Amino acid sequence: MRTDLYIDGQWCKPIKGGTFAVINPATEEIIHHAPAGTAEDIDAAVTAARRAFDEGPWPRLSGGERARYLRAIADGIRTCQAELAQLEVIDNGKPLPEADWDVADAAGCFDFYAGLAEGLDANGAEPIALADARFASRAVKEPIGVAGAIIPWNYPLLMASWKVAPALAAGCTMVLKPSELTPLTALEVGAIADDVGLPAGVLNIVTGFGMDAGQPLIDHKDVDKLAFTGSVPTGSRVIAAAARDIKKVSLELGGKSPFLIFDDSDVEKAVEWILFGIFWNQGQVCSATSRVLVQDGIYDRLLRRLVEETRKIKIGDGLATGTLLGPLVSKRQHDQVLSAIDKARSAGATIAAGGQRAPGFNKGYFFEPTIIINAPLDSDAWRQEIFGPVVCVRSFSTEAEAVALANDSRFGLAAAVMSADDERTERVAAALRAGIVWINCSQPTFTEAPWGGYKQSGIGRELGRWGLENYLETKQITRMTGKDPWGWYIK
Ligand code: NAD
Repeated sequence: MRTDLYIDGQWCKPIKGGTFAVINPATEEIIHHAPAGTAEDIDAAVTAARRAFDEGPWPRLSGGERARYLRAIADGIRTCQAELAQLEVIDNGKPLPEADWDVADAAGCFDFYAGLAEGLDANGAEPIALADARFASRAVKEPIGVAGAIIPWNYPLLMASWKVAPALAAGCTMVLKPSELTPLTALEVGAIADDVGLPAGVLNIVTGFGMDAGQPLIDHKDVDKLAFTGSVPTGSRVIAAAARDIKKVSLELGGKSPFLIFDDSDVEKAVEWILFGIFWNQGQVCSATSRVLVQDGIYDRLLRRLVEETRKIKIGDGLATGTLLGPLVSKRQHDQVLSAIDKARSAGATIAAGGQRAPGFNKGYFFEPTIIINAPLDSDAWRQEIFGPVVCVRSFSTEAEAVALANDSRFGLAAAVMSADDERTERVAAALRAGIVWINCSQPTFTEAPWGGYKQSGIGRELGRWGLENYLETKQITRMTGKDPWGWYIK
């Protein structure tokens, strides 16, 4: 476990020398003291990134040359797959097979953006057909500059890779600020980048608290682009900082994602996708399937099966074999989920399964997988993101009613629909106001496909070619090909 910040190709202690405790959420033990970066370290990191961008080789390399570094980082991640997965479990709490999946995805993300970096060479200049034959224009893509990236704790390594890989592919340099709850694996990405010889200053990693390290990063004058994933209130601060200096900005925020299940659906398959949608990563997923709408005809049967299967889920330490649900990431998160359940009860909702701290654990932030029914439509349980293993289920009668209920949210990250009728699923997919719509499944996520939200769920898209665009500027280059100027002033 790393004790230093990674700035300008060097491992260094925070200038003020602080550290913060990293806690294993399954045992509540302090497992590490991570370096607590502050404004001074952020300034050193941004200065290094600025220099690497303005004077260093990185943005001037061909996409193909940058791709070689990205592929080497992908290989480096795979080489340490087992260690990284273990670190992720003791830091975040998730079950080991999920962490293993995340690490493989993170490596795949670097490989994917290596391919897109190569594509930048081939598709570098797009000719533009002008109506005026005296000029020839083309559009070229260039890196935005220094990117400041801030990530949350739910997928520490994967969220780092979703930002670092496209930024580096585009030719940007970056300062990455991981969550103070889960700093371990992002620092390992610094070590892997260092091992593959990434030029100094291209990637800088400063761990620390939001107000101490995150805020100075978003406020820094030499940062050209902010990429943020996290909560809506912090996202507002990021966009305010970006507005002040007209920085480019992309935001991936929260959600309250609905899953509409029509009564011609296979109930067993629907239950499996609900479980995957809400209990994977303890429900601490921005796109979690947190509102399930079931058509009247199968509501009772589906709810019975969902309750049965939910009660069977094995809760435990993420490192223990067979665990399907680990602890929540922190005491604060655990207490927030508990209080959301109490509020739901007070609002008149019924807890059909779970609803309390998991029994049988003296230590650790374990919470039972929970099903809420009869949550009033104006209750927080139905409207606010709980960010835990808690799903609200309610019935509907008609397609129009289901779509209206689904869209009645300030969020619009993801939605899902299940039916045997393909025409209906296409119609509903078109009507749902969300950036991602899954048909006959919920939550599968692909590096190649755009990821991001409508409404308060965010601005911009990550992943796929859209994720690369986040870090690119478009430049018009126009050449006069005719012989004479306009002749407006000089006849
Ligand atoms: P958070 O907003 O509290 O923190 C996110 C990051 O922002 C952390 O690194 C934190 O240190 C930093 N931060 C906090 N205050 C800051 C400030 N003033 N200036 C700059 N940085 C600051 O969110 P969280 O609790 O870590 O994550 C949970 C939230 O993230 C949920 O709401 C969830 O929906 C959202 N999320 C969204 C996605 C997505 O892709 N849309 C993915 C994961 C999580």
